[in-house]
Amino acid sequence: MIKLPYEEIVAKIVEEAGISEVEVNDKIEEKLQQLSGLVSKEGAAHILANELGIKLLEQESSGKVVVNKLLPGMRSVEFMGKVQKVFDAKSFDKGTRKGRVQSFVAGDETGTIRVVAWNDLVEKIQTLKEGDIVHIENAYIKENNNQKELHLNDKSKVELNPPGETIGEVKVVIPSRNRKKIDGLKENDINVEILGTIVQTFEPRYYEVCPQCNKRARIVPGGVDFICEAHGRISPKYAYVLNVVIDDGSGTIRTVFFKNQAENLTKKSEQEMVSMKDNQQKIEQLKNELLGEIVKVVGRAAKNTMFDRLEFVSQLVFINPDPEEELRRLEQ
Ligand SMILES: [Zn+2]
Repeated sequence: MIKLPYEEIVAKIVEEAGISEVEVNDKIEEKLQQLSGLVSKEGAAHILANELGIKLLEQESSGKVVVNKLLPGMRSVEFMGKVQKVFDAKSFDKGTRKGRVQSFVAGDETGTIRVVAWNDLVEKIQTLKEGDIVHIENAYIKENNNQKELHLNDKSKVELNPPGETIGEVKVVIPSRNRKKIDGLKENDINVEILGTIVQTFEPRYYEVCPQCNKRARIVPGGVDFICEAHGRISPKYAYVLNVVIDDGSGTIRTVFFKNQAENLTKKSEQEMVSMKDNQQKIEQLKNELLGEIVKVVGRAAKNTMFDRLEFVSQLVFINPDPEEELRRLEQ
């Protein structure tokens, strides 16, 4: 089912049935009570629309859909956008499901969206780079962590740089996030944003992972070789985690930056991070550089059960955020 936001369903009913928003909300509330606990608010709104004979979605039979009109649940989607960022391909192995996955961000004049390609499609986007135009057919929209994603399966078609096609300036929408004070963070808060200063830094911790599936590799007992549960004896690569303490005036919190996030925070490449593994001098230099930096971090608050403390896990980090923009946000 295509997931329309509640507000949009209400707006459509108001428009098509010619009744007031208050009345629509009352009727939805009534449905909710009738069906006590059986449906969500969105579900009740769908039922009401159905009863009033209102078609919520006029499926456009063909043609490209722009980013801000894409809705979770849509199938057979045609989309064209300009590539903003390409992520590395990854192998995954979850027992019965194994294969490859790669994602990239593409956008148009209305916004940006993450595009996820699976298996054979990964091969087709090997040459993809920033600035390319992608024309996609037969994709579907999924919701992941409250964000829309465009997924490609084996029926999807991808065309790179179709002749004569252009995309205007891509609109970068930074989703409004829930800014919180550190002392107000609670366990399992997700997609929240904190803004503060790094007041303490720790050495990055390195660990061996399988180069194929990125899972933790184990050392063969008594030996020097590493094994991956899925891939056997392997020559490992390194992943790392970097912890810092952030202070925003209301409190402090230990904040965890796993591999890519650590690279974003330190502005260092994977190669640079690995090269400083046994270089104490470089590590000290890095720790010093980070001290006093102002950072905006989007992530989640999680309990570290071993130490019985709340930590913040970074999913997106901005270093030295624009002070004017921050002020504007405070004034809103
Ligand atoms: Zn492996």
